[in-house]
Amino acid sequence: MPKVIFIQPTQYQTGGKGLCKQKKIHLPGLVFPLLAAMTPDNWDIKVIIEVVDEIDFDEPCDIVAIGTMGHAIFRGLEIAHEFQKRGRLVVMGGYMSSMVPQMLLERKIDSVVIGDAEISWPQLIKDYTLTGKIKPIYDIPVSTLDNLPLPRYELLTEKPIGNMLPVQAGRGCPHLCSFCSIACIYKGRYITRPVDDVMRDIHRVKELGFKRFYLIDDNIVGNPSYLEELASRIKPLGMKWSSQCSLNLARNDKLLKTVADSGCEILSFGLESITQEGLDKLNKKWVKVNEHEELLRKITEAGIMPSTEMMIGTDSDTVESIIETFRFVEKAKIPIPRFYILTPMPGSELFEEFKRNGRLLHEDFKMYDGTTCVHKPEKIAPEKLTEMYWWLNSRVFSISSIMKRTVLNRAALKNPGSHLFALAVNLHYRHYIRRHITPNIF
Ligand code: SF4
Repeated sequence: MPKVIFIQPTQYQTGGKGLCKQKKIHLPGLVFPLLAAMTPDNWDIKVIIEVVDEIDFDEPCDIVAIGTMGHAIFRGLEIAHEFQKRGRLVVMGGYMSSMVPQMLLERKIDSVVIGDAEISWPQLIKDYTLTGKIKPIYDIPVSTLDNLPLPRYELLTEKPIGNMLPVQAGRGCPHLCSFCSIACIYKGRYITRPVDDVMRDIHRVKELGFKRFYLIDDNIVGNPSYLEELASRIKPLGMKWSSQCSLNLARNDKLLKTVADSGCEILSFGLESITQEGLDKLNKKWVKVNEHEELLRKITEAGIMPSTEMMIGTDSDTVESIIETFRFVEKAKIPIPRFYILTPMPGSELFEEFKRNGRLLHEDFKMYDGTTCVHKPEKIAPEKLTEMYWWLNSRVFSISSIMKRTVLNRAALKNPGSHLFALAVNLHYRHYIRRHITPNIF
């Protein structure tokens, strides 16, 4: 029986000190259960999520398929080369691989799947079955996400996972922020799955005994009428859910209420910066920093807990603006904040711009991990920016700030369970920050 091993690599701790490992996967990805469901029944399938699993490089198999998110691509390459030394065919895919396919081919990876895998993966398996070979590049974008099979969730539930399973809703994003890998790959396209298909998967998650799910979607309010219908259909299930969204949701009172009433408990928002100039330069002009606080307040009052992504190192950032960022997070009482240093990821528009203008410090991509400044910001020295990054994290994840933003936050009276959860997440992040590791979405 032919066999494929799917591997989600972990990443190295800052400074390459060792691999990041955890006891549990809090937000397991969906791509492997989905690709497994698209693989013919006569194939044996194994899934390895390296943050909790060990890899046996001598395990016999026909194909090793490695998914890549951000900086973990470099660990993915090491894994690939170990398997190749043992004569295995290796294919790499995912967001990061899609942005640097040429680099992967130069490093002798057998095949790269660019962008969507729903057509490419079955084609790759067919090629291997018929010829024993696979092509160097599979680049077949999908025009629809209709009729996707039910993901093989059992491949996740056999792992130590948290209390949620993933369900795919939409893919891509209508916006074109210059630093964003989604924008780079989907170029303003946002495709949604039929609501009936999404509901089928949510029902399956419920049947498996889960009371919570998270909707995988780069911007769930990308199509407001779609979200309205989906949230209305979710409500009767009495489940809790989370997703990623833009603050535009809070500009539509009716939709915000429908979403909150449907059981949405946490939404993650990309605020990016507290300076308008910084956002404008990253082609995120449609976000207005003077509205951040008010829109976050509306979301909290609706009963949804905001979690945020912000970055420092835009051209408007200074030591003062980073100190101001800390004050903003405390004032807005953001229960779950996360921070990165602006990083021009290879393949993005920002990378090309910085390269053209001589603003890259180097092209040692192993250092492009979001915790070290790799470009020349306009108003702050690169070393100072990195120092301020850790300063910001140490202040935001101090015990006093954590308590103010979570259990001592007035919103906790209305939503105590979520704020206790936020407390646990913050303590978890604090544990990582103290070891100079940026917590991410494992
Ligand atoms: S809104 Fe978010 S997902 Fe969409 S392009 Fe901008 S950063 Fe990327």
